[in-house]
Amino acid sequence: MLTSLDGRSAIVTGASRGIGKGIARVFARHGARVLVVARNIDAAEATAAELREAGGEATAFAADVTDLTGMEAAAATALERYHNLDILCANAGIFPMVSMEAMTTDQWDEVIGTNLKGTFISVKACLPALKQSDGGRVVLTSSITGPVTGVPGWTHYGASKAGQLGFLRTACIEIAKYGITMNAVMPGNIFTEGLEDLGEDYLRTMAASIPLKRLGSVEDIGYAALFFASKEAAFITGQTVIVDGGQILPESLEALET
Ligand code: NAP
Repeated sequence: MLTSLDGRSAIVTGASRGIGKGIARVFARHGARVLVVARNIDAAEATAAELREAGGEATAFAADVTDLTGMEAAAATALERYHNLDILCANAGIFPMVSMEAMTTDQWDEVIGTNLKGTFISVKACLPALKQSDGGRVVLTSSITGPVTGVPGWTHYGASKAGQLGFLRTACIEIAKYGITMNAVMPGNIFTEGLEDLGEDYLRTMAASIPLKRLGSVEDIGYAALFFASKEAAFITGQTVIVDGGQILPESLEALET
């Protein structure tokens, strides 16, 4: 059993739904005070209200991870409301599908700007507050797509998710002097509103290609993030954990049929 996150406060970006909401729910259940960040304030408020109804402490905040000023305001709000900021989960991301041949440069920029530059902006904005914590934690949501696997339609997305890991490996060294760790969770296919938008066929094909024969739940990712955010993970930095039900392992269709 990990020590709780009692007395710790966290910013989770993209927490109004999907994986971010799962992380926020697990963190709140383990005692953290959570700032639920997303662009749509109504959705963020609905999530924060749900966390409060379940006995947690949560506040909604509208910010876009592509906007440094907005993310600095999120960090300032966490400090003002909770008096400390100990954990940043840079989770917000988008994954529109378009083939490389059809992709416009604007489409490329939007995905890289949100997923990769948005990660840098979120970390940069929260760093001054995290430096004041006695053991700050940054947890990135990357993916298996990009660093490990490829999916047609996701050249921009794969590049952004692999890019997050390149960022991680140098950023974690730069912030080590402040006692802050930075690690990344690499989800496989997790059942979220965003993934649902890709359609039934996508969900069925992906579930069939996972040895555990199901898509992951948002709490499967929440618990991996909880470990990296815990006191027990104090000496782990610059590392990744794949949470994918074994999806990257089968070498052949036969391997899935056993
Ligand atoms: P989702 O269900 O579509 O939720 C995305 C969340 O991010 C929403 O809260 C959304 O709220 C927020 N968001 C999007 N753009 C934003 C921006 N510019 N600024 C602030 N918030 C923003 O997505 P998900 O499936 O949970 O994915 C979350 C993360 O996990 C992403 O980084 C994704 O790459 C990663 N991931 C997901 C899977 C999967 O199978 N689902 C697998 C691997 C990795 P607003 O629209 O209101 O801003």
